[in-house]
Amino acid sequence: MNAFVPFAAIVASSLFILALMWMSHPTTARRGVRAGEIGMLVAIVGALVQHDVVDYNLILIAMVAGAAVGIPMALLMPMTAIPQRTAISHAFGALAVGLIGAAEYYKHAHAEYAGGFIMWALMFEMLLGFLTCTASVIAFAKLQEIMGSRPVSFVGQRVLNGGVALATVVIGAMLAIDPTQTWLFPAFVALALLFGVLLVIPIGGADMPTVIALLNSYAGLAASAMGFALGNKLLIVAGALDGASGFILAVIMCKAMNRSFANVMFGGFGKVVAGAAGGKDDRVVRSASAEEAAMQLENASSVVIIPGYGMAVAQAQHKVSELYQALTKKGVDVKFAIHPVAGRMPGHMNVLLAEANVPYEQLVELDDINPELPQADVALIIGANDTINPSARDDPQSAIAGMPIIEADRAKSVFVIKRSMNAGFAGIDNPIYYNSNTQMLFGDAKDMVGSIAKELAGGGSGLH
Ligand code: NDP
Repeated sequence: MNAFVPFAAIVASSLFILALMWMSHPTTARRGVRAGEIGMLVAIVGALVQHDVVDYNLILIAMVAGAAVGIPMALLMPMTAIPQRTAISHAFGALAVGLIGAAEYYKHAHAEYAGGFIMWALMFEMLLGFLTCTASVIAFAKLQEIMGSRPVSFVGQRVLNGGVALATVVIGAMLAIDPTQTWLFPAFVALALLFGVLLVIPIGGADMPTVIALLNSYAGLAASAMGFALGNKLLIVAGALDGASGFILAVIMCKAMNRSFANVMFGGFGKVVAGAAGGKDDRVVRSASAEEAAMQLENASSVVIIPGYGMAVAQAQHKVSELYQALTKKGVDVKFAIHPVAGRMPGHMNVLLAEANVPYEQLVELDDINPELPQADVALIIGANDTINPSARDDPQSAIAGMPIIEADRAKSVFVIKRSMNAGFAGIDNPIYYNSNTQMLFGDAKDMVGSIAKELAGGGSGLH
């Protein structure tokens, strides 16, 4: 049986690596998820057959309890709630890491382990585990709107945060150097938990997806450190993969928003100013009806659809798919332009459009679609705002200056579906709405796209 354990570790590690590789492309993503699931199953079986398991009954109770929470959570949570679902899963995982660390600490709280590698690894993993747990709970509460999503700030916040962080590290170091000082241990755990709360409350709800990617990275590093402490190679590999991929994802998200980590963590960004785009000025906004839009769309030879957060909020993806089919049937070439941070989580648009069976091949990334946009007859923007804001390209003073955008304004004609002149996530004005080639289609994305698709299905304008 013992030979099976290292074998299971190699198989599971390989499957985790393949899973990450396959998940990086939409066409192989499902295979990637399966590989990850099978890898996890192999890892669990490998852990269960280890000779040092003492009581299977307790493990069974834990597995039943876990499945009782996990299965309904997976089945009932809507797609739009994936960020908070991920946050709460991290909280559970990180708590498990912290508690195992605590059990191991008490097992090793003898003078012979003083200053040894195991103690340092345990303190590191408990620090990350406990802080990730409370930080993830706060991220969940903000995204689920159980608590206000606005950044919480107060006088002396940075000094307090710095003080708590320093105290946690110092006590952790004292325990690693002299593990027999068990009376210090509860203070260490309490401070790490408190630090997690303090770390996340100053961050706005809309920045949570980036924070979750970072917390994912912390949880992975904690698991890896636990692998070192327990001498478990599979945990080291799986934790390192998790840590690295979470970190890379956070970097990609920051780059796509043209923001630094420091700006995400301390910027208090995301305080959306309602009506920011609708200031008092004499610029003219042209609006159109679904019928007029349908007429122009069916007479176009190429249309680029640019979805954003509003499509997700309205759950308009199925109507968008109907529109795509109606236009394709009429011989119009339709492509979808996908911005890496459209929506509120990485791959948000890809997931929604895949759910509505829009073919993957029609989804084109920012760098590839931009050169095509000047030739497009119509750019149809559905609930996207910041990701198509030309001031990121044209105005060095803009809050989003330098953020790569989908250059919808370069298309011959532009339609924008949104409910009002309100700003998007960044809370800033968008000059595209005032361009002479832009027409606004005011309304909920699902209703408006549905009306356009209906117009097209009903024979449309007959101008062809
Ligand atoms: P934005 O958040 O810029 O804009 C969304 C627009 O959708 C709003 O202007 C809103 O206008 C409209 N909208 C909302 N509800 C509806 C509805 N029911 N029907 C029609 N329209 C609606 O979206 P983008 O996708 O363009 O940009 C994403 C932003 O989020 C970027 O700034 C990005 O940096 C940020 N971000 C993205 C993350 C990611 O991983 N994807 C993570 C963190 C932040 P109105 O109210 O008038 O309807």
